[in-house]
Amino acid sequence: MKNTNIESKSSFSEREKGPELENFLNLFDFSVFQKLLDEEFKNAQADKKAEMVSQSRIDGNAEPYGDYRPKDKSIGINIERIKKLAERSGVDWDLLAKKILIHEQLHAATDRSCPQGKWEINEHVGYGRIRRIKGTPIGSALYMLWNEGVTETWARELLRLYISRIGDRSTKEVDDFFERIAEARKTEAEHPYEDEIDLVEAFIERLHKETMVDKRIVRKAVIHGMIRGEGFTEPEFKELAEDIFPSGFLVDLALAERHNTVRRLIEELRRGGSGSSIASRTWKQLIEGILESMGNVYGR
Ligand SMILES: [Zn+2]
Repeated sequence: MKNTNIESKSSFSEREKGPELENFLNLFDFSVFQKLLDEEFKNAQADKKAEMVSQSRIDGNAEPYGDYRPKDKSIGINIERIKKLAERSGVDWDLLAKKILIHEQLHAATDRSCPQGKWEINEHVGYGRIRRIKGTPIGSALYMLWNEGVTETWARELLRLYISRIGDRSTKEVDDFFERIAEARKTEAEHPYEDEIDLVEAFIERLHKETMVDKRIVRKAVIHGMIRGEGFTEPEFKELAEDIFPSGFLVDLALAERHNTVRRLIEELRRGGSGSSIASRTWKQLIEGILESMGNVYGR
């Protein structure tokens, strides 16, 4: 899923799968990835199965690098563009393509969209919400960039897990890959989702500071919330959030569509975080309570 509202106009195209994409997909182990997804969904106590997009529903028709289309549950991977980006950034194109494929598969797995008749759809993918009629967004898209950040954070974790299960590369190769991406960001403005990842990290850091809950647990809670299709609209959450986050933060987070809004939100999160308020203590109980009920939060 891309950051803007323009997406979803494209749909699956049988013809547009070149030999390079075909080769790449033939070498990707879909069954290992499905197993990983099943484990993640089980850990999060999801009420649905993790459905990924099969190889036959992936085409080469994506702008710029990858996209997931809730309309027909298909994925586009633009391998030529990915290769060029990898070359400009000095990273391994195969790892980059795998990271992008996993990212799009996570959108597919967390898709709870409901078609309303032939032309209307309430898209609900992870934390993201948008209503479309005949492909045109009606009203505001909500939590789109936040959803991208959480999806990408999770995709990076799963890339590491996938590679360690396949065992065709060393941990060091994967570490180098992520390091180079971080480096490339300084010169290659196009690398997707870097700001959104910083936003998720700043959010986790702030909650950790406020509540002293272990960062790994907060990260898990954020990812599990996405798997279970939760949002920030539950009254209990809202009330607590108003005590912890800067005023208007959640509204801005929901409506953020531009990278400079994301950067401003990161700054707001980084300012403050005392950990002494009653709200902080309630947060701690809330997060720990949720995770305790799910069990096995430190697993893996
Ligand atoms: Zn996305």
